[in-house]
Amino acid sequence: MQGVCLFQRAFVERVEEELVAGLRAFQPAGIWLDYLTYAGWFETPDPDLQQSCFCPGCIAAFREATGIDAASPREILARHAGAWTRHKCERIAAFAARYAALIRAHLPGCVVGAYMCPWTPDEFDGALGRIFAQDYALLAPAIDIFTPLIYARKSGRPADWGRRFLAEAPAFVPAGRPVQLILDALDFPASLEAIAASPRPSWGVQMFGGARVFGDPDQARDFRAAVDQIRERLAASPA
Ligand SMILES: [Zn+2]
Repeated sequence: MQGVCLFQRAFVERVEEELVAGLRAFQPAGIWLDYLTYAGWFETPDPDLQQSCFCPGCIAAFREATGIDAASPREILARHAGAWTRHKCERIAAFAARYAALIRAHLPGCVVGAYMCPWTPDEFDGALGRIFAQDYALLAPAIDIFTPLIYARKSGRPADWGRRFLAEAPAFVPAGRPVQLILDALDFPASLEAIAASPRPSWGVQMFGGARVFGDPDQARDFRAAVDQIRERLAASPA
């Protein structure tokens, strides 16, 4: 999995142009920002977690933002790891704020969601922040709804992973920011049934690869039944 360094301004500008073009063309009711992270791949049981990016532009940005006079990756990681993580998270949060402002300027009322690495802040030695640079508190001003990618089989996790996430989320997802899980059709129906029975409801649900579920009458019926169950729990739970 290759990521793009945030110093690649031409690429970043093109993404922004395409976002604005999409806003004008489609006027969506909601937009979910994807890959709003530093580079890495988490949809696997044994992730290869590497630090990035140490190009001259990114190191200069770190030195300028923090006032820390470190020049090499080794020195940054050995002596300034906390500041490096914080700087990366702030950089990602700044992109979130920029995109959210663009979206809201063009389409007031448009919901802004973000797809998230589905790990708690402590897993894999803090990789959510340390590698992917996704900090819920820093992102919360820009993001209305957080959507962790709960792909259980791909990630070597149990089918009730989403339910466990919902139980743990209040410890690190800021109050007032709903969690709307995205599940993988490969995990259907067990993962959906697990969250439908969760005492903490998912704020709605998304289904990756859902066409194969919705195209099968029996599975579509099971999907609707689970969604009805989630709706009932949402209606009964305090906002
Ligand atoms: Zn870079």
